[in-house]
Amino acid sequence: MFFMHVNLFETVTPASLVTLGSGVLVLVVGILIYVRDSSRKDTTMFLLITASAMVWSITAGLLQSISHSDIEEALIRLLYISGASMPMMSIFFADSLSVGKFRFNKLRSAGIIVLSLLMFSLIAFSDLIVWRRADVSHGWENEIARGPLFFLFVLYLIVVFTASLATLWRKYREAAGVFKIELRYIMIALAIAMFSIFIINLTLQIMGYYDVAWIGHMVAFLTATIIGYIMVKYNFWNIKLMATELFIVLISLTLFTEVIFSRSVIDFVVKGTILALVVSSSFFLTRSVKRETESRQEVEKLAEELHNVNIRLQELNKKKSNFVEIAAHHLRDPLTAIRGYTSMLLEGSFGLLSANARGAVMKISESSKRLLVIIEEFMDISKIESGKIEYRFEKADLGNVLTDIIEEMKSSAESSGLSLTLEIVPKEDYRIAVDIGKIRQVISNLIDNALKYSLKGGIKVRMYKTRKKKILIIVSDTGIGMIQATIEKIFKKFSRAANASKFHTGGSGLGLYVAKEIIRNHDGRIWAESAGLGKGSTFYVELDPGIMHQATPVPTEEQSSEKGPTFSATG
Ligand code: ADP
Repeated sequence: MFFMHVNLFETVTPASLVTLGSGVLVLVVGILIYVRDSSRKDTTMFLLITASAMVWSITAGLLQSISHSDIEEALIRLLYISGASMPMMSIFFADSLSVGKFRFNKLRSAGIIVLSLLMFSLIAFSDLIVWRRADVSHGWENEIARGPLFFLFVLYLIVVFTASLATLWRKYREAAGVFKIELRYIMIALAIAMFSIFIINLTLQIMGYYDVAWIGHMVAFLTATIIGYIMVKYNFWNIKLMATELFIVLISLTLFTEVIFSRSVIDFVVKGTILALVVSSSFFLTRSVKRETESRQEVEKLAEELHNVNIRLQELNKKKSNFVEIAAHHLRDPLTAIRGYTSMLLEGSFGLLSANARGAVMKISESSKRLLVIIEEFMDISKIESGKIEYRFEKADLGNVLTDIIEEMKSSAESSGLSLTLEIVPKEDYRIAVDIGKIRQVISNLIDNALKYSLKGGIKVRMYKTRKKKILIIVSDTGIGMIQATIEKIFKKFSRAANASKFHTGGSGLGLYVAKEIIRNHDGRIWAESAGLGKGSTFYVELDPGIMHQATPVPTEEQSSEKGPTFSATG
C-alpha cells in the first residue's frame, strides 16, 4: 500500500489490524517455506519477497495506527521502498526456480539491482517521488504528497512487473511435466496479485479511494500462501508435517504466555514443566515423522525417476527392434536369391552337377535355409517387441492344416532316418478362427525341433478335443529329452538347453519364444514335458474354439508377400 489512513484520534482500526496481521502472517509463510530447504535459492528468494511484503504491510499498518510523530516521514519512504522491492524480488524469485536452462547473467542481474537502487535512493533521499506534507493538521492522505518524478516510480513498477512475468513465462516454455504445471500456477497467482495490488494500492489511491488499501495487503498474504502451497506441493514436501509444526509452534507460544503470567511459584513450576515436556516431545516427534516422510519421499522420487528411465528404455528398445527388423529385411532378400539359385542348380536347370558339386550345393541349400529361419525369427521378435506383429484371423480346419504340414515335412524326416506320423481323433470339429500362417509356423517349428533333437525313433503328431472342448495338438519325439530346469526356460528369448548345441549348432533359441507369443495372442496355451534326458520330449498346444477372435481385414499385397517366406522357411 502506498497511501494509508492515519487517524489522528483513533489509534487502531480494523483495517490497520488486518494490514498489520497480513504483514506478520506473510513472513510466517516465507519462513515455513524457507526452513523446508534453506539451501535452495528459490526458498531464499521467496523468504525475501515475504520479508519485503512484511515490511510493506507493517509500515502501512503503523502509518494507519500511530499519531503524528517524527518517524512518520521515514515510514512513508520505507513504505514506498518496500512496496517497490516486492516485484523486484519477484524477478529474482522467478529466475531462481530451478527449471529449464534459462538463467540471468551477471549483467542482467546487476542492471536490475542498479535500477532498483536508483529508485530506492530517489524515494529515500529526495522529494522527487514522494514527500511528507507537514503543514496539514489532519487527514493522512494529504500528508503523503507525490513528487514531480512520481511517474518514474509508476514506470519502474510497470517495468519490473512485466520483467518478472516475462522471466516466468520464459521458464514456463522450457519446463516440462510437473514443473510446467507448478510454473503455470505460480505465474497466474503472481500476475493476478501484482495486477490487483497495482490497481488497489496505486491506481485507486491516485484517484482518491484510500479505504480499500487493506485489501491489497491481504492479497499479498494470500498470494504468498498460495505460491508457498504450490512450491510445497510440487517439491514433494509434506504439507501435513508443516501444518503439524505450525500447530506445535502455536501451542508452545500459548503455553509460554501462560508461564509468563503465572500467579505463583508452584504455578510457574507446573506450567514451566508442561511447556518443557511439550516442546521436547514435539521436537522428537516431528523429527522422527520428518525422517520417515523424507525417506518415503525419497522413494517416491526414485520411483518417478525409475519410471522415466523405463519409458526411455522402452523407446530405445523400440528403436532397436525397428533397426533389427530393417537389417533382417535387407539380409533376407539376397538370401532368397541364393535359395532360388541353389534349388535351380539342384533341379539341373544349369546342367547336370557332379556328385561332389551336388553335395556342396546341398550344403549351401541347407545352410541358407537355416539362416533364413534365423532371420525370420529375428524379424518376428522385432515385430513382437515393437508391437507391429499383425494377426489375420480366419476360420480354418486344423485337421487340414496339420495334414499339409506333415506332407511337407515327411521327406525331411525320412532323410534324417526318422518317422513322422499324424493321428487325428476322428469325428470331431477342428474348425477354429486362427491366423493360419502363424499356427503353421508354430507347429512346423515344434516338428522341426523334434527332428533336430532326435537321433533315432520318430515324431508323433496327435490332435484331439479335450473334455472342455478345446483343441489339443501334441508333438512328441524320442529325442534327447530335457531336464526340468531346461523346460522352465525354453520359452524365453535366446534360451537353449546346455546340451542343445551338441545336437544342433545353428539354433538361435528364439523359435519357442515366438511360438509362445503367437499362441498367447490366440488366447491358447503352449507347454512342454519330458521324462528327462534321453527320454524324449512332448510339446502341447491348446486352442479354444470357443474364443471368438475378431476377423481381420483382407491383407494388402505387401503384407502377403511378407508372410509367404515365413512358413516356407520354417516348414
Ligand atoms: P532353437 O531350437 O533354435 O535352439 P527353440 O526356441 O526352438 O530354439 O528351442 C529352444 C531350446 O529348447 C532348444 O535349444 C532346445 O534346448 C530345447 N528344445 C526344443 N525342442 C526340443 C525337443 N524336441 N527336444 C529337446 N529339446 C528341445
